[in-house]
Amino acid sequence: MTTHIPAREIAERPIGYAGPNLSPTGLRLAPRTLAGGVHALLATIPPKDNNGLVTGRDAALVVDAGITPDVARMIQDRCAELTARPLRYLVNTTYHGDHTFGNAAFPSETVVVSSRANRDNMGDLGYEKQVRSGNMYGDEALFDAVREWRRPNLTFDGHAEIDLGGRIVQLWHFGPGNGPGDTVVYVPDARVAWTGNLLAHAGIAHMLLQGGPQPYLATLRAMREALPDLATIVPGHGPMGDGPAAIDALVAYLERLHAEVTDSVAAGHTLEETIARCTDPWAGELDPTLVAALASYQIPQDQAVHGMRELCRNLHRLNILATYRLYTAR
Ligand SMILES: [Zn+2]
Repeated sequence: MTTHIPAREIAERPIGYAGPNLSPTGLRLAPRTLAGGVHALLATIPPKDNNGLVTGRDAALVVDAGITPDVARMIQDRCAELTARPLRYLVNTTYHGDHTFGNAAFPSETVVVSSRANRDNMGDLGYEKQVRSGNMYGDEALFDAVREWRRPNLTFDGHAEIDLGGRIVQLWHFGPGNGPGDTVVYVPDARVAWTGNLLAHAGIAHMLLQGGPQPYLATLRAMREALPDLATIVPGHGPMGDGPAAIDALVAYLERLHAEVTDSVAAGHTLEETIARCTDPWAGELDPTLVAALASYQIPQDQAVHGMRELCRNLHRLNILATYRLYTAR
């Protein structure tokens, strides 16, 4: 029962919940070159969506499409400043609208690639807009420009490789995590992975939107095994970080969440009691490596740290709720 993946993500939210602000208002994408032809495109305001560009001799690959057609065009403008190669591939790391609503604003020649599970979740645009409106903070009308939900042209199940000409990009679906289809884009020669919503910088709370801690743990262990040389991650949201440290931190978090919610349910506690009883890793200071990473943003440091800590505490309550509902479902 605890490894069951629901057909849709959880819609319920804890009382007083405030989720990530993903509105593109004020968004800019700052390129950061990690190796020759390997560029992170980092949102200048966390936790808005990050993107990526990987180029080879013949072609270029873009990671994630932006939350609106305008953001998709901004991504393409940044790419044009960095490469003259045609944008032949666009990889969606998840089906969520903030990663896929921009798909239709890429040229029809650009092949959209993702896991089969992600494509299978891209059926109901109206519902997806409604769900993602919770992250727009007053800018929901920007979704009016999203008239088509372009689905991936090409899918894979577990692993695929794309040859850009002298550069191989690996695509991995290790299993469900944040969603059922989380896709990791790995560039072996640069030891860099784009991890979408699956994995953020160590010390950031993740979201268990569609499935509980156990399948997520299996996915992370498979990732650690498959990518022993991984160095740097470019998450879908928030700062870049050390890949192995991020995996270890999330594994420890999910193991504790699973154990504490299991115990609380066995003891017959209510949801409110369970939220109160579970350890809050964000009750004190943020992970110092995360504080250091937040210093890379051109926003006041205390604001960045405070905003991240509040967000993590909200996400943590949501994770307890999601796990509790899963473990008490009949
Ligand atoms: Zn996302």
